[in-house]
Amino acid sequence: MDFQLDEDQQLFRGTVRAWVERECPKDVARQLESREYVYPEALWEALVKGGFVGLGVPPEYGGQGADLMTQVILQRELARSLAGLTWVWGISAFCARAVHAFGGEALRHEVLTGLAEGRSRLAMAVTEPGGGTDIFGAIRTTGTKVPGGWRIDGQKMWSTGAAAAQHLLLLVRTDPEPAKPSGAFSMFLVPSPSEGLTIRPIPKLGMRALASCEVFLDGVEVGDEHLLGEVGRGWHQMVMAIDAERVLLAALCCGIIDGVLEDAIAYAHEREAFGRPIGQFQAIQHHIADIAMWQRQAELVTWYAASLPQDDPRYGLEANMAKVVASEHAVNAADLGIQILGGMGYSLETDMQRYWRDARLFRIGPVTNEVTRNMIAEGLGLPRAR
Ligand SMILES: Cc1cc2nc3c(=O)[nH]c(=O)nc-3n(C[C@H](O)[C@H](O)[C@H](O)COP(=O)(O)OP(=O)(O)OC[C@H]3O[C@@H](n4cnc5c(N)ncnc54)[C@H](O)[C@@H]3O)c2cc1C
Repeated sequence: MDFQLDEDQQLFRGTVRAWVERECPKDVARQLESREYVYPEALWEALVKGGFVGLGVPPEYGGQGADLMTQVILQRELARSLAGLTWVWGISAFCARAVHAFGGEALRHEVLTGLAEGRSRLAMAVTEPGGGTDIFGAIRTTGTKVPGGWRIDGQKMWSTGAAAAQHLLLLVRTDPEPAKPSGAFSMFLVPSPSEGLTIRPIPKLGMRALASCEVFLDGVEVGDEHLLGEVGRGWHQMVMAIDAERVLLAALCCGIIDGVLEDAIAYAHEREAFGRPIGQFQAIQHHIADIAMWQRQAELVTWYAASLPQDDPRYGLEANMAKVVASEHAVNAADLGIQILGGMGYSLETDMQRYWRDARLFRIGPVTNEVTRNMIAEGLGLPRAR
């Protein structure tokens, strides 16, 4: 049993950490995040130049074909400074998995090579105004067969990065009367811009530069090659494609905890009250010890899930556990971080509030922690929760 990163992984972590300090330290990340709806193009360009955006893309499409653990390291190191803005890369990375797994060769080549070269970004558009949890009940967007392709009509909600993406990954209803509810859906990749496609940012609490959007599809037509995989298999394909998402998200939360802990310790040394650094007060020490223990717990569950092959029967359960543990510890750590900084923790001029605002999302999306707990219980042999 070895709980350490190996030599290559440590080297990669050191390289990314030095890059983050140079290209997107916390003060830069804070400025970027505050610019509502202004996509951080310079950050994307820097990530492209750093050779990071194609990390998970297979080498035949110009990427590095790195394993999940290497992507976890990147995600965590970026999030230590960027927090939720790390999703600038993360979303494209896991949407690209769907294109690789289910797209035809020409589409794969266009999208994956485009991503590896930094020309093509992706966003996911599954959630609808009717809900994100009860997907089968909520999805009203339809795909209708037309000669040579499909016409898509409907509305999506909360599609993060959609306004700056070149392709949207959609789950739509293609069968109004399926034999089984899960057979109603198919997966499409819709180019953006497209005629009939309108995208509108939704004001939100965190990750403000990376807009989460309403997406209106009014008779959007795509060719047959934009159907990914098989008609009626969209739900199963989506579940498979986003398998890595929970682990990457847990890694992002680990990065947030790293950022919180180092800022909390620095402040505890600097700030004085009653003639001594606040780090001498036992209450502050306990807060910091709690954050450090949460950091270790989140790291271990995340690394463990990332170390399992994705076809291992334990993978799904472990990925779900990692998502819940890391997201809840990140929110709690940032909350205590604010407490340690006192009034400055509430100031937009420090990063604690940004960590808290960003981490808070990950108890909700991509799947809420209530529903993730249901899945964990089901994985332990309990009946499906109603
Ligand atoms: C900032 C942000 C970014 C997002 N980005 C994306 C994106 O890029 N692409 C995308 O497709 N979606 C995205 N989402 C949507 C996100 O995935 C959904 O918000 C999430 O799945 C929850 O759906 P909902 O908001 O409709 O809540 P609901 O499904 O309405 O749930 C409301 C409450 O009911 C609980 N609940 C519902 N069903 C059950 C049950 N069976 N058992 C126990 N509790 C239950 C939930 O846990 C929750 O507490 C984003 C959301 C936000 C806020």
